[in-house]
Amino acid sequence: MSVLIYAENAAGKFKKSTFEAVSYAKAIANQSSTNLIAISIGDVAAEDLAALGKYGAEKVLNVSNEKLKNFVNQAYASVIAEAAKANNSAIVVLSNSFSGRGLAPRLGVKLEAGVVDGAVALPEVSNGKFTVKKTAFSGKAFATVEITSANKVIALTPNTYKVVESALNASVEDFNVETKASDFAALVKDIVRSTDKVSLPDAEIVVSAGRGLKGPENWGMVEELAGLLGAATACSKPVSDAGWRPHSEHVGQTGIAVSPNLYVAIGISGAIQHLAGISASKVIVVINKDAEAPFFKVADYGIVGDAFEVLPKLIAAVKEYKASA
Ligand code: FAD
Repeated sequence: MSVLIYAENAAGKFKKSTFEAVSYAKAIANQSSTNLIAISIGDVAAEDLAALGKYGAEKVLNVSNEKLKNFVNQAYASVIAEAAKANNSAIVVLSNSFSGRGLAPRLGVKLEAGVVDGAVALPEVSNGKFTVKKTAFSGKAFATVEITSANKVIALTPNTYKVVESALNASVEDFNVETKASDFAALVKDIVRSTDKVSLPDAEIVVSAGRGLKGPENWGMVEELAGLLGAATACSKPVSDAGWRPHSEHVGQTGIAVSPNLYVAIGISGAIQHLAGISASKVIVVINKDAEAPFFKVADYGIVGDAFEVLPKLIAAVKEYKASA
């Protein structure tokens, strides 16, 4: 038996959440004294594939196939399932990313496996029981789930497991699978980005603003700060409902769930429905003029002040820092 980790890449580069998932999968492999195998799909440089060894993968299966250049849920799930079967992998680990959330249930069906998505801690294995702690109710609670099937699929919430490095390099092997036409029933022909901005679900830094900004005409400073930080922009629900910002930026229980390293919330009260979408953020900075705003309770850093005074100063400070760096 082995553990298989799907090492997701974005435009040929592995992200921090992938290294977290590999480190997490390695710890699971250690629990069962078994090997960790990684699978990568798409065009990733050979040295980046081998570097997955640093996070615990002993072998990396490289799937480079023109048909799989763009992410296709069903086809990727088939390839990962085939790799799991070929390597006798009873446990498959993924990142609970946008694509991971699509893959996990499909893998569950293909491998007849119990699935835990949104895992936040290592599995506990005792008295023959295998349990995993996960987020529930859009991040408002935790649940402990027992997986009773022999095969298991676990999708790890980003920013909940630390990256662990060692000095190893992994061996890299090509892994070729015959793709089935039925896996391409819905085919991605082309991806035309509507904007050059950083994509929100995958963003490492998010600058988000709420009704405290008063109106759409004031978003220039939000965009300027986001541009300086290389961040995606986001907003609260009432802001997108009012048409101040596009719905694609709405974060929360009924919007997009984000998991950046840094989430900057400006003029957002911190209602529970908003917090549901940002609870996997690593560091939260809140700017609000009301010191009693609920958002401060979950903030790592808080600035009590008027956004219209704080933001220009913050933008000037970031510019000064960048000019001197
Ligand atoms: P407000 O609640 O109006 O807060 C504005 C904040 O800005 C206040 O804290 C105020 O102190 C501050 N402020 C005002 N002026 C300034 C200034 N000049 N400088 C600095 N700070 C200032 N909301 C979401 O965001 N996402 C969701 O997915 C979502 N889903 C929902 C689902 C349901 C079923 C329901 C019932 C609600 C949902 N909501 C959601 C709405 C949520 O309950 C809140 O109403 C909403 O998040 C509030 O948005 P806000 O913080 O921008 O506005």
